[in-house]
Amino acid sequence: MPGNRSTNGYGAVRIFNTMSRKTETLKTLKEGLVKIYCCGPTVYESPHIGNMRTYVWQDIFRRTLELNGYEVLHVRNITDVGHLKSDADTGEDKLQESANRRHSTAWDIARMYTEEFFDYSRMLNIRDPSVSPRATDHINEMLALIKKLDDNGYIYEIRNDGIYYDTSKFKEYGKLTGMNFAQLNNYLIGGARVELSKDKRNITDFALWKFSPVDEKRDMEWDSEYGIGFPGWHIECSAMSMKYLGETIDIHCGGVDHIYIHHPNEIAQSEGATGKKFVNYWMHGEFILVENKKMSKSKGSFYTVADILKKGFGWREIRYLLFSAHYRSQLNFTFRGLESAKASISRMHDIMRRLNGINEPDDNAELKKLRAFVNSHKNEFLKYMNNDIMVPEALRVVFDLISYINKQIEEGRIGKTGSEEAIGAMLFFDSVLGLNLAELMEEDEAPQEVIELLDKRDIARAKRDYALADEIRNTILDKYGFIVEDSKDGQHLKKASR
Ligand code: AMP
Ligand code: ZN
Repeated sequence: MPGNRSTNGYGAVRIFNTMSRKTETLKTLKEGLVKIYCCGPTVYESPHIGNMRTYVWQDIFRRTLELNGYEVLHVRNITDVGHLKSDADTGEDKLQESANRRHSTAWDIARMYTEEFFDYSRMLNIRDPSVSPRATDHINEMLALIKKLDDNGYIYEIRNDGIYYDTSKFKEYGKLTGMNFAQLNNYLIGGARVELSKDKRNITDFALWKFSPVDEKRDMEWDSEYGIGFPGWHIECSAMSMKYLGETIDIHCGGVDHIYIHHPNEIAQSEGATGKKFVNYWMHGEFILVENKKMSKSKGSFYTVADILKKGFGWREIRYLLFSAHYRSQLNFTFRGLESAKASISRMHDIMRRLNGINEPDDNAELKKLRAFVNSHKNEFLKYMNNDIMVPEALRVVFDLISYINKQIEEGRIGKTGSEEAIGAMLFFDSVLGLNLAELMEEDEAPQEVIELLDKRDIARAKRDYALADEIRNTILDKYGFIVEDSKDGQHLKKASR
């Protein structure tokens, strides 16, 4: 395996840890295994491209860990209950509200949007996590955790409302934010990030269990020793992370919006219950802007994956654009950006096609030179990916190699073995980028009839019979769906666009 080794023998992966605000070298709890929990989608609406950006960088990160030889146990939950419209635990449950609006039930809404979420994430080649637990399947685990917090003296009841966590009792509350308790309370009041509630003891207190309204039957509610109701949003992540990964895990991921409320609450719940450190490394990805503005439904700058596909872009272009900026920088999503993603993918595809067409024997000296160049670029790529997933720099390495290879092909310096090794490097990059370049190459495999037509066209061109050459080119396009391109080193086939 190329790249530096960590002390435990696997690739040395460095991560910016929100908790320490430093880039640290990953040291896993168990050698060779990384336990990751990522906060999953709230399944009340179609996922937007912002949500998908978050899951794309997490996918790229997981693939990077695997490329370094780690086994990854990756849990990403499905929030299908309890996520209220306001982070202050007021307002309606997003699922129930969506169900009422659509004259449906919260259960049907959850099923429909969970399926849709998986469809889009698979379409973007985001690998399924090892486990995708649903909150509604873990009510007992959440209640058991609330009981522990009860035993440890952290909870209080607000009549006709719910069971709350008293954050003033958890000494280190808010440590993830870099602020102390008073500072964080002032910050949240000042920014009106959390609404004041007259019954809460502290503004940072949050609901663990909400009581069902007395005059209304909810689609989702459960009986418990605290009364009929449903869980608060935050408790599900603590319960499911502990169930599938243990009381302490290596890495927890989410969007930057979780730094000030959701993740401090997860820490308070988990550490308040177990007395053990919950997470060793916290990773947070930045948000997406659309045409330089905050995504906004009312301004029409709010896109789902389906909206972009309908405009004629493919999944590769969307994935490429979503991973192309560093995950801790805001990403400006534009249609020009999608066009340039398309051009970049085309360059990758073209080089693979050209390499695939080389059958000449290798010149040993040239092969040695090429091999050194290819290997140093593979190492560089991994070095950047291992350094807090520096994708823009890693992509520069990929395109530097592509330019070099193009030149070498022009000059006739690459033979069959060299071309295979260069293709191997592209597939190595792609094991992390996930553009499925191997599949693109397969699409290039044309039927025998097309190959014979190409031979006839070669002869026609040699005889300068350009009318016949053009006619054959049209037949290949109309009948078989391949575009013929002429270049210095002969004819090339490209599958006509989808
Ligand atoms: P939600 O479905 O609202 O629970 O969010 C699912 C994930 O998407 C969370 O990790 C959020 O932090 C993340 N997220 C929400 N909006 C954006 C955005 N505009 N850009 C990037 N990530 C986002
Ligand atoms: Zn969470």
